[in-house]
Amino acid sequence: MSVASVIVDVAAKQTDRAFDYAVPDKWKGIIVPGMRVVVPFGPRKVQGFVVALKEEAEVKRVKPIADLLDLTPVLTPELLEIGHWLTEKTLCFMISAFQVMLPAAMKAKYDKELSLLSKEAYEQLHEQVKPFFQSRSSLKWSEVEKTAAASVFYRDIQKGLIEVVYVVKNKGNKKTAKGVKLNQSLEEIQQFMSELNKQAEKQKQVLSFMLERSEEVAIKEIAEDLQITSAPIKTLINKGLLAETEIEIYRDPYQDRYFTPSKPFQLTDEQAEAITPILRDIEENLHDVFLMYGVTGSGKTEVYLQSIDQVLKKRKEAIMLVPEISLTPQMVKRFKERFGSKVAVLHSGLSTGEKYDEWRKIQRKEVSVVVGARSAVFAPFENLGLLIIDEEHETSYKQEENPRYHARDVAIYRGQHHQCPVILGSATPTLESFARAQKGVYKLLTLKQRMNKSSMPSVDIVDMREELRSGNRSMFSTLLFEKMKDRLEKGEQIVLFLNKRGHSSFVMCRDCGYVPTCEHCEISLTYHRYQNKLKCHYCGHEEQVHTECPECHSEHIRFFGSGTQKVEEELTKVLPEARVVRMDVDTTSRKGAHEKLLNKFASEEAQILLGTQMIAKGLDFPNVTLVGVLTADTMLNLPDFRASEKTFQLLTQVSGRAGRHKLPGEVVIQTYTPEHYSIQLASQHDYDAFYKQEMEIRKMHKYPPFFYLALVTVSHENIAKVVSVTDKISQYLRQKLSPQTTILGPVASPIAKIKDRYRYQCMLKYKLEPSLIPLLKYILERYQAEMQKENLTITIDLNPYSMM
Ligand code: ADP
Ligand code: ZN
Ligand code: ZN
Repeated sequence: MSVASVIVDVAAKQTDRAFDYAVPDKWKGIIVPGMRVVVPFGPRKVQGFVVALKEEAEVKRVKPIADLLDLTPVLTPELLEIGHWLTEKTLCFMISAFQVMLPAAMKAKYDKELSLLSKEAYEQLHEQVKPFFQSRSSLKWSEVEKTAAASVFYRDIQKGLIEVVYVVKNKGNKKTAKGVKLNQSLEEIQQFMSELNKQAEKQKQVLSFMLERSEEVAIKEIAEDLQITSAPIKTLINKGLLAETEIEIYRDPYQDRYFTPSKPFQLTDEQAEAITPILRDIEENLHDVFLMYGVTGSGKTEVYLQSIDQVLKKRKEAIMLVPEISLTPQMVKRFKERFGSKVAVLHSGLSTGEKYDEWRKIQRKEVSVVVGARSAVFAPFENLGLLIIDEEHETSYKQEENPRYHARDVAIYRGQHHQCPVILGSATPTLESFARAQKGVYKLLTLKQRMNKSSMPSVDIVDMREELRSGNRSMFSTLLFEKMKDRLEKGEQIVLFLNKRGHSSFVMCRDCGYVPTCEHCEISLTYHRYQNKLKCHYCGHEEQVHTECPECHSEHIRFFGSGTQKVEEELTKVLPEARVVRMDVDTTSRKGAHEKLLNKFASEEAQILLGTQMIAKGLDFPNVTLVGVLTADTMLNLPDFRASEKTFQLLTQVSGRAGRHKLPGEVVIQTYTPEHYSIQLASQHDYDAFYKQEMEIRKMHKYPPFFYLALVTVSHENIAKVVSVTDKISQYLRQKLSPQTTILGPVASPIAKIKDRYRYQCMLKYKLEPSLIPLLKYILERYQAEMQKENLTITIDLNPYSMM
């Protein structure tokens, strides 16, 4: 094959297709689809992905490939195919689709290193290659690249004798520790040990430890392992038996942690019933999507673990996705305990290098299970036997930038490709998924019982309007305050939850809880400080700001919101004896901070855990008997048709944190709208009733799952331009789409200006529009020139989750 089709790394409409390049003779038979190359493109050289090989080019004269970046393909044929599919599903460029599947390290600058895979491999190396590895096991590719031996190297790489590693250029954060290594010959050391007297027992221990390891070891590790101070080690250095070294701490964050292997539990009847169809699919290579609907603590994770176990027995691989914030050390531990070193973990808490290391384990098939956040769905496994999405309702599975994909769609697509089951798990499934399960598109598996047979915690709803009336202006209602004091006295623990995602731009009456909403959309109005007006971000409806509440005529009508820091301050005032751990974006931004804070709470050093969203998920502390939700309303009032659903999910999640073990749990929900069905039904733990009621509302207002949504957002510095472009797009769509489709717009986006760019949008609600994708593509093409020259942005989100 002498011609390669290459997708170049230039994200633009005109370049969003494969270009042909000649394969130089030296790389014939070596270049395969899925490898990255460097190619001349106009006056520049750019990176690209080889997507196909062929005998002849479309055009007469083609330029040759300038450089080969990978010596083994980084994208499998399946992932290349998924790339094509993503461009259709999300209207993204091919290059963006490919890049999202790779770890960030591969986009960064790196050095390519070759390393010998084993000592035995040396003998099998080509004669021209051998000299390079005579005295070392790795070398820089740049040393080889220009020599005549380069092409011979490729063969040895393909034979699996040499491996290619990208060494990420560390931005000075390479971690090292003081270590030691043996500094004398074996005989000399043995001699020395035999001459040591009884008092020097510790030095002897250190030396035998070092002999056993026969490599450099961190001083800290030796001290910890032998339970000694570093003094005998220092003595040995002074005596010249050990030499000091700087050792790079390996980047596997769980590397030197020991996990006690765990055994599968005997499944309960409910669990056994749920796992049976999954195991059958695994056994018979069948694809189904299972919706595992089970309350928190009902043993879903155990079902995942045992299903994965079955997959591993068949020598296949499994991907388990969890939301970023519930990828807690507790969760990772459960997987490591069950599957040991077969597990790779991918999440944003890892450094670029660590992520690349984990990814490489997958690529080299050293692991067969991946636990990770959204992008782990692209793990380059080739023999998948199961994909799991835990907490499938979490919105973080949707990527909010190009390509705007949903991990659930990718998982199901891969499940079909591999003919293997997909499990979606949740205590509060999305309406979309539950509706599909009701229709039989997904298979519903239900777990009703909590594992320890404990009942769901009892929930009290506190009406904060009443509190205000009775003169309590603090953030804590009398009931919550009393209960907190009681727990502190008993030595039990408390979780306080503050929903910070809500921002202060909605208006609420402090006396009656009234929130102005749009009469056409049932979405709360957003306050625009600048114009001093209330606006609906779906349909554009506007109102004057009220100076008094239209319901109760109170003047206490104002904007809402309060931060965790403020709560912490108030806590120290009213409960000075309580020790508080605060977890929010500010306190957890440093690496490892998350785990440290949780450990502090787990070890009962602190009695109150105060935090945002991130504490709602997956945490399991036996001593927590009280959960307080400070303001349940904040999310309810976001301009988002999913506001009720998100509130219900969140309250259910948070309540699930209490009373998971022997001690019974209680939950206090503070709210200004105690009558709201999502708050009422969450307090009764009644998902089914919530589902019914919310479905009615969705149907009435033409929202998913009854209708599909598409969101076109236009942004530019000049507001007139934004309005006119959005208007033209809306008009064009009105002409072309069917009358059954609702087109809302042009209207200002909820966040109407970001970084000095104005934003307008047009939202489509449709049921069946076969020509929608071509029409939207046409719009992107039509505005292509303006987007490039005038810095106009048009983003299209098919199935949006964030309406902002
Ligand atoms: P979920 O994922 O639904 O929240 P988990 O799988 O975490 O539930 O189970 C809750 C608790 O019950 C965990 O501590 C787990 O170890 C335990 N557990 C799960 N299944 C069993 C079982 N069959 N027998 C005994 N304990 C179990
Ligand atoms: Zn009022
Ligand atoms: Zn409206």
